[in-house]
Amino acid sequence: MSEARTSVYTRTASFTDVGSVRTVNQDSCGEFVLDAGYRLLMVADGMGGHLGGEVASQATVEAVGQVFQRGVDDPAGFLREAFTLANKRVFERSAADSNLHGMGTTGVALLIGPGRRAWLANVGDSRAYRSRGGRLEVLTQDHSWVHEEVRNNRLTLEEAAVHPRKNVLTRSIGVDPVVDVDVTETDLEPGDRFLLCSDGLWGEVADADIAAVVDGQEPEQAVRTLVDMANRAGGPDNITVQIALVPSRIGDYEAGSTPAGDSDTTLSEPGAEDTLPRVDPVDIPYSDSNDPDYEAPGPDGSLSSMRLLTLAVAAVSALLLAALVWFAIAEGSGSSATPVSAAQDEPARR
Ligand code: CA
Repeated sequence: MSEARTSVYTRTASFTDVGSVRTVNQDSCGEFVLDAGYRLLMVADGMGGHLGGEVASQATVEAVGQVFQRGVDDPAGFLREAFTLANKRVFERSAADSNLHGMGTTGVALLIGPGRRAWLANVGDSRAYRSRGGRLEVLTQDHSWVHEEVRNNRLTLEEAAVHPRKNVLTRSIGVDPVVDVDVTETDLEPGDRFLLCSDGLWGEVADADIAAVVDGQEPEQAVRTLVDMANRAGGPDNITVQIALVPSRIGDYEAGSTPAGDSDTTLSEPGAEDTLPRVDPVDIPYSDSNDPDYEAPGPDGSLSSMRLLTLAVAAVSALLLAALVWFAIAEGSGSSATPVSAAQDEPARR
C-alpha cells in the first residue's frame, strides 16, 4: 500500500453527548473520507435560541462535508471555502427565520492528507490537540473574550476558566456576513493522536487527565471515557470528542478492512447544493443523559430568562447612573460621568 493512502487507515472515533444538565445537544460532529487519501474530522458547538444552536452546528458540519465531497486540490483553500460556505448558509438562514435569529456556531476541522500532512481550520473555542511522544499540545487558538485577555496578559488561565464572560466568543460561524478562519498546516508523525473537542470537555477535564486517556486507550474507548469524565465533573455543557490515531506503521490498519467503529460517512447528494439536505452527518454514537430538572429556554425561542435578567440589570444600572450624573451636574462639581456601557450584546454560549 502506498503512503498516499495512509490517511484512509488513520483510525478515528467520535462521540457526542448532551451532558448532565442540558436537555438539547447543540454540538455536532462529522467524519468524512475521500478516495484520494484525505480524511476530515469536524466538531461544531452551536449557540443561540432554543433551536438555533443545533441548526447552526448541523448546517456547518453538512456544508463543510459537502464541499469536501467535491474533492480537495488545495487543502488550505478547501478549508477556507468550506467554512465560508457554512458561514453564508447559517447567516442567511438566521436572517430568514426569526426563530433562528442570532444563531451561530464554533467550528474546528482536522484534514489529514496523503504524504503525512495535516491541516486545521478553526473559528471559536472548540479545540484541536495533538499528543506526540507523551506530550499533549493545543494546536488551535480560542477566539473567546477571556483568551484574548489571557493573550494580552490581562487574565491568567486560572482566572479565565472561572470568568463570568468565559463563554463570550470573539469569532463564530454564521453571526456576521463574513468569517475570519484560522487555517494552519501541521506535520504528521506515526503514532500521533489528534483530539478535537468542544469546551464541554476541555472546560471540565484537566489537560493531564485528557492526555492520559488519549494516550492510554484505543480511540473508540477513549472518546467514551473522556465524555464520562466530563459528566462526572458535572457535565454542565454538551460534550463532543473526536480522536484520530495515525498508525505507527503504514498498513497497520489494513488487515480486515477498516477498524471497528470507523464511520466512513459520505454526504454525496447530487443536485442538492442549494438547499440544506437532511443529512445526518455521521453515525456518531450519541448518548443522552438528560436531567429533567434542567430549566429549558422559553418556548417562544426569544429572550431567555438569563438574558431578560441581564437586560433588566443593565436598565436599572443606566437609570441609577443617570440619576448620579444629574446630581453631579446639580452640585456643579463638573465631574464627568463614566460612559454607560451598552447591555451585553455579544453571543453567549448557551
Ligand atoms: Ca459548549
